[in-house]
Amino acid sequence: MVAQVIDGKAFAAKLRAQVAEQVATLKEAHGIIPGLAVVLVGEDPASQVYVRSKGKQTVEVGMNSYEHKLDASTSEEDLLALIDRLNNDPEVHGILVQLPLPKHLNEDLVINAIDPAKDVDGFHISNVGLLGTGQKSMVPCTPLGCLMMLRDHHGSLSGMDAVVIGRSNIVGKPMAQLLLGDSCTVTIAHSRTKNLAEVVRRADIVVAAVGRPEMVPGDWIKPGATVIDVGINRIERDGKTKLVGDVHYDSCAEVAGAITPVPGGVGPMTIACLLANTLTACTRANNLPEPKGLTA
Ligand code: NDP
Repeated sequence: MVAQVIDGKAFAAKLRAQVAEQVATLKEAHGIIPGLAVVLVGEDPASQVYVRSKGKQTVEVGMNSYEHKLDASTSEEDLLALIDRLNNDPEVHGILVQLPLPKHLNEDLVINAIDPAKDVDGFHISNVGLLGTGQKSMVPCTPLGCLMMLRDHHGSLSGMDAVVIGRSNIVGKPMAQLLLGDSCTVTIAHSRTKNLAEVVRRADIVVAAVGRPEMVPGDWIKPGATVIDVGINRIERDGKTKLVGDVHYDSCAEVAGAITPVPGGVGPMTIACLLANTLTACTRANNLPEPKGLTA
């Protein structure tokens, strides 16, 4: 079997177009423009690239983008004061603090200072609790993107066996909650899981979020399974830098029914879902009907 490629780049472009259309309608019908504030502390090169890309795509869908670039030595007090200002700014509907923060800043404290209704990353403890109890919440962008692609590919996920490899707060755990919400039978695997190959072989859906280049080989995959590769790993091969996922693409693509590539799979969906979350936050803030298909 040769797997069908799930084209995250094309899916993300479609999602952005849908968001742009809704943003234009909001503007026309209500004079409201959704606004996303992104806070970057310090000069981490990867974070700078992400923030630039987020700002650009925010403007492209017709939203307002507010970038706050703070010095690496910014005090917790000053950062919290900025978040407080953004929480109280009616033109800001979404707030994202780019992680990781410099070591002297307490990430949990900072994230939990964001108004949960504006927490478009879905990392605030209230949103984690709401998602865990199946209530309306802001859903973390990367797992939301994975869920959208899975729903699009399969229709209903009900009754499917899903294995999520990785238990981080930003990917693995919320991914498992979302799959459970769609009535999958979910296993969360991690570095202490015994017989990982056997566990993965049971799965109709495999989501790999590990951070280890090409760790999952094709002979771990049940024939016909759907493989969602969240990993983004930069490796050196043949003297060149290359991006690879957490699954070994070529061998998995021979066995799987469908697979996301790296790059061009989950990655582009993350920012598209951030824009979708900002639109959702804006409609909720204004007591307007939420556009369909943009959240879990
Ligand atoms: P973390 O490092 O926070 O978590 C990694 C998880 O993998 C942990 O739960 C860890 O287990 C588990 N793990 C590590 N080694 C093994 C192993 N040998 N066998 C089984 N499980 C293992 O990573 P993130 O969740 O933040 O990110 C995962 C990957 O996804 C990374 O490559 C990251 O770059 C990528 N990513 C991509 C995004 C995108 O937009 N496409 C967004 C976010 C992340 P334990 O808990 O036991 O240590």
